Amino acid sequence: MEMFREGIISEPGKVVLRQREKRRPGAREALIRIKSSAVCGSDMHIFSGRHPYVSLPTTVGHEVAGIVEETGSEVTAVKVGDRVCVEPLITCGTCYYCRRGRYDYCENLKLKYRTGNSGYADYYYAEEQWIHRLPDEMSFDEGALMEPFACTVHAAMKAKIHLCDSVCVMGDGPIGLMLAQLSLACGATHVYVMGLQEDNLTLAKTFGCIPLVSGSEGIEEIMRRTEGRGVDVAFEAVGIPATFNQTMAVTKRGGRAIIFGIFEDEFKTKALVDAMVREIEVVGTSSYCWDFQRGIDLVSAGKVDLKSLITHRFPLAEVQKAMDLKKGAGRQPLKIILEP
Ligand SMILES: [Zn+2]
Ligand SMILES: [Zn+2]
Repeated sequence: MEMFREGIISEPGKVVLRQREKRRPGAREALIRIKSSAVCGSDMHIFSGRHPYVSLPTTVGHEVAGIVEETGSEVTAVKVGDRVCVEPLITCGTCYYCRRGRYDYCENLKLKYRTGNSGYADYYYAEEQWIHRLPDEMSFDEGALMEPFACTVHAAMKAKIHLCDSVCVMGDGPIGLMLAQLSLACGATHVYVMGLQEDNLTLAKTFGCIPLVSGSEGIEEIMRRTEGRGVDVAFEAVGIPATFNQTMAVTKRGGRAIIFGIFEDEFKTKALVDAMVREIEVVGTSSYCWDFQRGIDLVSAGKVDLKSLITHRFPLAEVQKAMDLKKGAGRQPLKIILEP
């Protein structure tokens, strides 16, 4: 029988490639030969063994793009040879939310990698309903980045950015840099990106944003430039108390604060008083719902540059090296691509 490699986090800090049997796809499934697989920040929580909902050993990886190699007997949406990316969800289709089209709220939502499907692999099985075709001009790397990008498209739509708005993005990681570009695409004139990594801030500048070093001076600079009012929309894309407080501090009266970062720990904050007094709309955002196609359209129309967010590339065989690098101290890679 034919086998293929798939990544498993076996213990904290250790990722191994095990052999898995290649089977024929189910009736509504396609077998995808992975060409590009991206490392997600959430994978790192699993890698460190500190993910609240995932115990080890586990499969890992959910940002994939590749070529359809085989289809099940009932598949009609894709055909062999199609270049595709995959939405890595499993929904029930019958719960209250699924029946209303809000599959991201599914009461029985499962993630593919938590059901034994690793995205760090040679092959990936996906139900046809979750497969999206890539336009010819789009690379597999960009296809793999559709998953995190769809999250930011979802967030940007919730932010309801208008022409001439000012926006502040807390965080200069891949998500922050996607949100910043989307803000410009939505018509914002001034997009401030606050972060601590010089290279990332430089990249933000090339996108047309105003880079600022995180901290009180950066906040003061935004307040100065907005005549003390603050921005129309602020995104929190870090997930720590300090940036939460700064997000509230920098949002103008009646403005909107979008909470994207994942807060691992409980914390006390007085910043919600800001939200109350200044009538800031605090909006949560998570996952995506019908946002993959929007993401594909945005990238293929040239509205957002995802290629520049890829800073490292490893063969799948060196997955341990890739994750060690991402985990390591010092300059954080933006996106790492694994190639089978
Ligand atoms: Zn992800
Ligand atoms: Zn459901």
